[in-house]
Amino acid sequence: MQKISSKKGIDFRIRKLPSRKLIELKNPDRIAVLVDKLPFGKARLKVAAGDRVALGSRLFEDKKRPWLKFLSPAGGQIEQINYGPRRVIRELVIKLDRHEEHLDFKRFDLQDVQAADRRSIVDAIVEGGLWWTFRGLPFRDVPEPEVIPPLILVNLAAKEPFAPDVELVIGKDLDLLRLGISIVKKLSPRVVVYTHVDNQGVLSKAGDLVDLLVDGNYPAADPATVLYRLKQSASENRSWYINAQDLLLVAGLFSTGRFPTRRIFAVGGTRAPFAGHVESRLGVPVGHLVDTHAIAPGSRFIAGGILRGYKLEADGFMGALETGLAILPEDKEAEFMALFRPGFNKPTNSRAFASLLRRGELEYDCGRQGPERACISCMYCADVCPVDILPQMLYKAILAEEVEEYLAHGLLDCVQCGLCSYVCPSKIELTAAFETAKADYARQQ
Ligand code: SF4
Ligand code: SF4
Repeated sequence: MQKISSKKGIDFRIRKLPSRKLIELKNPDRIAVLVDKLPFGKARLKVAAGDRVALGSRLFEDKKRPWLKFLSPAGGQIEQINYGPRRVIRELVIKLDRHEEHLDFKRFDLQDVQAADRRSIVDAIVEGGLWWTFRGLPFRDVPEPEVIPPLILVNLAAKEPFAPDVELVIGKDLDLLRLGISIVKKLSPRVVVYTHVDNQGVLSKAGDLVDLLVDGNYPAADPATVLYRLKQSASENRSWYINAQDLLLVAGLFSTGRFPTRRIFAVGGTRAPFAGHVESRLGVPVGHLVDTHAIAPGSRFIAGGILRGYKLEADGFMGALETGLAILPEDKEAEFMALFRPGFNKPTNSRAFASLLRRGELEYDCGRQGPERACISCMYCADVCPVDILPQMLYKAILAEEVEEYLAHGLLDCVQCGLCSYVCPSKIELTAAFETAKADYARQQ
């Protein structure tokens, strides 16, 4: 088995990371689809408030690519459609029926998949409303089904804080995993299934399905980092990837002929009432995963990872792509005589605090610890960058709007891992600048 290592990155020692305990929950009363968190250009609604929907009926589609649709992950009634600024559709809330109606899709077993051609597999995924589970690098957009990618990475790794344990995700669904990988193999001549060396449970359960082992700290297991280490030519830059839970959604659609809804969430963080895993369904309310009333005021709910996720309200819902919920204190109040305290509990990457000397878990909060200042050329950002970018140089090229220069500095390789911003003592929002520049460049293409 091939192995690649990433020497950079950070080993986060966060207090109250999710344990391997798995709690199974009953259905919530309502779920939501967070439209603005899905990789759709502009959504065109196919339902109105008050409409009845079945599991798998069409909720909305991309205005520019109508074939790209999102189906209802529940049977019930559209209770609310909430809009953001400029009437952009933000979320659809669905009240669940006790007995949810569902639509039926074509079923495939392993032999059917092996006998099918690429077109029928693509059609089944598109018609089943799960094409958005595939993402195209380097922009992490939804790829065009007609394009045959040079490589598809299947991510069976978890090395990000608050990412669900992949062994728990796979559970007893080995046949489903096998079916999912067969489906992906119909889409590209080259498929690489990988896991992290720390995910020993995946290796012992599904080692025969794994082609590649990755080693290293966060974000070594991110598909973009893996591609950076693996690719041999620029043509592979436009590879695709799919994550373990999404792969199981696609396989679930094929094996049952129903739109799948199962989701396992990792829950943790200093302010979380418990740290473990919860099995529920797509779009579940935050308040269904944790008792939000038991959480101290001044806490922040974060979906999608602590370095690149987004803030949720306590009465909000998990997005369809999200699998992790972190609950951390907002900014701690300024400490008295902070400069003269050793900081045994404070995270640091720059030897600013004595916590560097101990291996224990540390208190993380959401504070920036000060305003943005001028770059001091310390190179901390370059030291952690997993894809060997010089972030401070890339940032300068972006500020100067030098497209050729920022491409030469590796903008398209950027994993958007957030580490450069995290370690920057000058608090420069490097990752946000790279994300915006990448999105602008993608639009121009
Ligand atoms: S430039 Fe920053 S965000 Fe991009 S990969 Fe490097 S460390 Fe991560
Ligand atoms: S970490 Fe911040 S201050 Fe240091 S070189 Fe990078 S951008 Fe400049």
